[in-house]
Amino acid sequence: MSTPASTPRPRVLVTGASVAGPAAAYWLDRAGYDVTVLERAPEPRRGGQNIDVRGLARDVLERMDLLDAVRDVGTGEVGTRFVDADGGTVSEFPTDDSTGDGPTAELEILRGELARLLREACPDRVTWRHGDHVVDVDQDDASVTVSLERGGSESYDLLVVAEGPWSHTRGLVMTGDDEPDLERLGMYCAWATIPRTDDDDRWWRWMSVPGSRSVNLRPDNTGTTRAMLNFMTDETGLRELSVDEQRAELRERFADVGWEAPRILDALDEADDLYLDDLTQVRCPTWSRGRVVLLGDAAWCVTPIGGFGTSLALIGAYVLAAELSRASSPEAAFAAYEEWLRPLVDDVQDLPPGTPRLANPRSRLGVALFNAGTRLAATGPVRALASRLGSGSSSDRELPDLVTDR
Ligand SMILES: Cc1cc2nc3c(=O)[nH]c(=O)nc-3n(C[C@H](O)[C@H](O)[C@H](O)COP(=O)(O)OP(=O)(O)OC[C@H]3O[C@@H](n4cnc5c(N)ncnc54)[C@H](O)[C@@H]3O)c2cc1C
Repeated sequence: MSTPASTPRPRVLVTGASVAGPAAAYWLDRAGYDVTVLERAPEPRRGGQNIDVRGLARDVLERMDLLDAVRDVGTGEVGTRFVDADGGTVSEFPTDDSTGDGPTAELEILRGELARLLREACPDRVTWRHGDHVVDVDQDDASVTVSLERGGSESYDLLVVAEGPWSHTRGLVMTGDDEPDLERLGMYCAWATIPRTDDDDRWWRWMSVPGSRSVNLRPDNTGTTRAMLNFMTDETGLRELSVDEQRAELRERFADVGWEAPRILDALDEADDLYLDDLTQVRCPTWSRGRVVLLGDAAWCVTPIGGFGTSLALIGAYVLAAELSRASSPEAAFAAYEEWLRPLVDDVQDLPPGTPRLANPRSRLGVALFNAGTRLAATGPVRALASRLGSGSSSDRELPDLVTDR
């Protein structure tokens, strides 16, 4: 797909500007495309909590010359510490390169910071648009035409959908037999930024609470603390509630919990970035149809429980552009992209039996057993094994070559 300098660059529209979208914009530009990124939010979304970059995704960042920049704005988290109802240490998993990445990876960064760095890495010729979204998609052998919510329609050579797990455009294209299977894990995560106190340290502190709940505090590099409240329930629809209604839900569900829960609940009233997600794995029979291709959580959301979502988004963006840079047609490139990536995605989506229930016990006894399990896992040999399992990066393949066309 690489083009001589005199012919116009093929045009691609990327929808979604979180992690997968900007990474795709960078690599598609390198592969010779004229890139427009369309984000539904009215401005770049700065929110989001600690996410990590593991395995081959580090190679992708290195190829973008971003490894040092990501390290420079790392959250500084030194490891994961399980605590009891009084905050006392149950077990600890320090970040340790010699055993691979554990629950805390070597590259921990705030989602908004990573999104910013990826976007800043793109050349000026990439076009960024906000506050609009696709409402209709029509395609033929030569192009794909999108209608936009604010009015008007535009034609492109390709459409890359990187809109996250709840993608609207995916629903317009992947119909019939291609409709994705959305598999709820029965677990909600609420993330918010709260004021730091003197007692907050550099550890991810995790308290397991009866009733399949947990309270988590994590450090950041911006002078605040990142709080996470998790709970399991079969109830649906909480993601769609207003932010005030979500605050009320969390207050009710964590009203009886001690340790730092009252402080977090109070701080939620002031937090302007509360983000409640209904963890759902996305499984698509295919990731492309004609000139439209899915990328990142829109294609294969693994959820934070899978633990490799951001890394897969980075790897996927690179592999997609690499295959497009070498293939004779978009269809051939999309097939090669899917063939390369799907085994890795399947591996991450294939959660161990009992996940996430085992890590979120219902009863007091269950919590005691879970804590005892973490204590055992923190011992030398078991920890080395657990770290490798947690790394989610079992692929030892080389990334495909990308034919650059700058
Ligand atoms: C605000 C926010 C906070 C997050 N916080 C965390 C966190 O704390 N911990 C964690 O593990 N993961 C978090 N995630 C998810 C994490 O970013 C992803 O799992 C992973 O990085 C893969 O990213 P993605 O780009 O494929 O999808 P996402 O990160 O979900 O991004 C999708 C993007 O597409 C945009 N979008 C949605 N619909 C449309 C549309 N129709 N047209 C155009 N744009 C659209 C969204 O606004 C968003 O910017 C968060 C995501 C978001 C958007």
